[in-house]
Parts: sequence; C-alpha cells; structure tokens
Amino acid sequence: MKFGGTSVADGIRIRDVASIVRQNYEKGDEIVIVASAMAGVTDQLEKIARKASKNRDVSEINSFIKSLTEQHHDAAKNAIDDAKIVSSVIDELNAKIEDMSNALISIRHLGELTDRSHDYILSFGERLSTPILTGTLLSMRLDSSSLTGGEAGIITNSNFKNAKPLLKITNENVKERILPLIEKKTIPIIAGFTAVDKKGVITTLGRGGSDYTASIIGAAIDADEIWIWTDVDGIMTTDPRILPEARTLPVISYLEAMELSYFGAKVIHPKTIEPAIQRGIPVRVKNTINPAHPGTIIVKDHEELKDIVKAVAIIENVALINVSGAGMVGTPGVAARVFAALADAEVNIIMISQGSSEANLSLVIDCPHLNKALNALRSEFTENVVRNITYDEDICGIAVVGAGMAGTPGVAGRVFSALGKVGANIRMISQGSSEVNISFVVSKKSANISVKALHDEFKLGVER
Ligand code: ADP
Ligand code: ASP
Ligand code: MG
Repeated sequence: MKFGGTSVADGIRIRDVASIVRQNYEKGDEIVIVASAMAGVTDQLEKIARKASKNRDVSEINSFIKSLTEQHHDAAKNAIDDAKIVSSVIDELNAKIEDMSNALISIRHLGELTDRSHDYILSFGERLSTPILTGTLLSMRLDSSSLTGGEAGIITNSNFKNAKPLLKITNENVKERILPLIEKKTIPIIAGFTAVDKKGVITTLGRGGSDYTASIIGAAIDADEIWIWTDVDGIMTTDPRILPEARTLPVISYLEAMELSYFGAKVIHPKTIEPAIQRGIPVRVKNTINPAHPGTIIVKDHEELKDIVKAVAIIENVALINVSGAGMVGTPGVAARVFAALADAEVNIIMISQGSSEANLSLVIDCPHLNKALNALRSEFTENVVRNITYDEDICGIAVVGAGMAGTPGVAGRVFSALGKVGANIRMISQGSSEVNISFVVSKKSANISVKALHDEFKLGVER
C-alpha cells in the first residue's frame, strides 16, 4: 500500500492512514507500506535548495527549518497517543532535520546545487514522514519499522533526479530485507521516491516517484496486489480538477493506465505500471478519505466495452517545436539527426508528427527542456536542409484513451468534429500505432473546452 502526500498531510490524516492499515491487517492481510512526504514538503525542499545555492542570506534557511520542524512535530503529536513514542519520534526527526540543515548551509557556502545534493535534500520529505507513520502504528500496538528506499533494497544508477532502478539486484535485495520483516509480523514503512546508487549515495526516482517505489517493491516480493491510496476515488474519466463531472472508472487495463499517466494523469506515476505488468500484479487506486469506495482496479485484460473511449488526459507544461524546410523532402536521415541531437541533449520527447510531404516535423517536449532542445537543433542544422526551427510554449497536449478505439472506425472523426464545434484551435495531431490513444495539441486557451467537449461527446460523465 502506498499513501500519497495528501494522505499524510497532517497528524489527523496520518492517524486515518494508520487506521486503514490496521483494519486490513486485522483482516489478515500482510502489508508493506510506502509513504510519500507530507503534502507540499517536496516542493518546499526543492525551492529552498535552489535558493540556498543563490542567496548568501541564511535567515530564509533558518525560518524554513523552523517551520518544517514545527510541521513535523505537530503531525507527530497529533497522530501519536503515546508520549514516550512521540518523544522518540521527535528525537529522530530532529536528528534528520539537523543533517538536512547542515547540507543546506553547505550548499549556501558553495553557492552550487548539484543534482546529487538536490536528491539528498529532497529525500528528507519521505525520510521525515515515515517515522511519524511508524510511531503511529506502534502506538496502535502494531509492530512496524521505517526504512529508506535504499534500506529497503532499491538500488539505482547514478542519474540523480530521475534515477533508474537496477532491477535484478533490487529484486534480490528487497526480497532479502522485506520478506523477513513480514514473516515476523513487522509492518515495513518505506520512504517512497528515495533510493541509493551502487556506492550508497542517495538518489530519487523522479517527482511523483513514490508510486513507482510501491510497484518496484510489490513486484520484488510478488505481492498479490499493489494499492495506491490517494485523494480521489480512483482513476477518473478526466482530471476532476479540470472537470468536476469526471467519473471514477471501476476497471482499466495496464495499457490504458500507462497511456493516461504518460499523458499527464498524475494520479499514478507513468512508470508504476511497468513492474506490475512483469508479474501480472493488479494495481488498485483508492481514496484515503473515502476508503469504502472500491476505487479503480488496473488489470492485464481490458474489458471489451461498448465505451470506445474511456478517459481524456491533459498534459501541461509542454512545448511544441516545428522543424521545417523544403530541403527536408527526399533528404534521407533528417529525422534521425533531429532525434539523435535531442537524445544527446537529453530532451524528453512526448509526441511526434510528420506530414507525408516530409517538409515538416513537429515535436512536443517537456517545457523545461525547450532551450537545450532549440540549441541542440540549431547547432545540428547549420546547412540549408532545415530552414526553420520554430517553437510555441502556449500549448497543451490532450490524449483520448481507450482500448476499444482499436478497430472501431470513426473515432478520430468524432474527436475532431467535437473539437471543431467548440472552435478549438488544433496545432498538431498524432496517433500511436497501438490505437489506444489519439493525441493532439491545442493552444492553452482551448485546453479546458476541448477536454469538456470530448468528455461530453463520448458521454464519459454518464454512469454505466
Ligand atoms: P498523491 O499525492 O496521492 O500521489 P497526486 O496529486 O500525485 O496524489 O495525484 C492525484 C491527483 O491526480 C488528483 O487529485 C487529480 O487531481 C489528479 N488527476 C489527474 N488526472 C486524473 C485522472 N484521470 N483520474 C484521477 N485523478 C487525476
Ligand atoms: N514526494 C515526492 C514528490 O512530491 C514523491 C511522491 O510524492 O510521489 O514528488
Ligand atoms: Mg502522486
């Protein structure tokens, strides 16, 4: 079971989480917990680390440490009934906060924030929330023990900020360390998002990566199910923050869940499904505020549904790049050079589209990668083949997802005529060959009306 940031946002919520764990434990389930940082803490850590490297003024660091300390002390006091346990948890929190504070001061002295230090600082979010949850379970007389991702056995490469697990050794380690705890009826509480590289240096799995931690652990111990507890009833027909009439989907397939999460449905991290697929483990998404709701179950075989389209996802913070020039027609290898240049610059490409005239290649990339992408392309194409490299940041990507689209004629027609009716300005279109997804790019101001138009067209808000 993985509990996200809002599920452990304060002492009361942490106590609710502990009750959910206790109920399932008393029913006879063997449980391993993965927890996120308290809501907002990772963002704050990222911000203060950046500021520390730029600003000589120590007062901001000090006031941050003070409020972070208070927040975690308060949570511990509100979640845990037993005074002795509270005091030992507070000692543990203080020792960790001191390490973190020293690191921030060093970053300030050096005036430099390396990716390695970034991960070290961000790891404290989860390393501070987990002892509080452990203390809460202990105070409910459930034996439990907190571990960092590294202590649980997750070993990654040294690609800080977005480290990749080395699966073979991770699987062996996790089994070796976690199974004996389960055996002796201790509930392991693992700090999500965090891991170590082969040298033991702390790494992180990328923002939102606690979901991934849960599925790595679940696959390693061959769990019966992986449960992602969050702040909505499950995977919904679209982001309920954009469209309140979004409806919870009872079942979806691995492939559909992957397409949705790659396309911005942040309810699960895009990499979560991969380890689950390998072992065929079902993934359940449930709401900590509404635990009686069955949530969504993600399984191998999609239901053969009359619904062709299941959900609409929206990806923000992306940019469109257009590479064009008459010289591209009939010149072999232009696309290969574009992709090689972007790969060398470590640019993440989200969508690709090329017209059959070959005079134009459009790409959607992560917005923070825009400058390095443009630099890489401009220095690759100094001759005449490519005349123009233009870009647009004022866009969003939208994907319509559903396994039933494969082999159903006319879906694209319905998608684009629905968009036409609301006057959405479409900038680019792309369809994966899996046919589970039709995606396109619209200007930012057309984004919400497009989502709504598609949600209405395919009657996604209507209860089945
Ligand atoms: P956690 O902190 O539990 O990891 P996240 O904030 O990462 O939670 O993810 C949950 C959020 O994902 C929801 O509050 C919702 O706004 C957003 N979301 C985006 N798309 C969807 C979707 N299709 N279904 C459900 N939630 C979605
Ligand atoms: N705390 C991390 C983040 O905010 C990981 C997670 O919550 O999944 O990115
Ligand atoms: Mg999340």
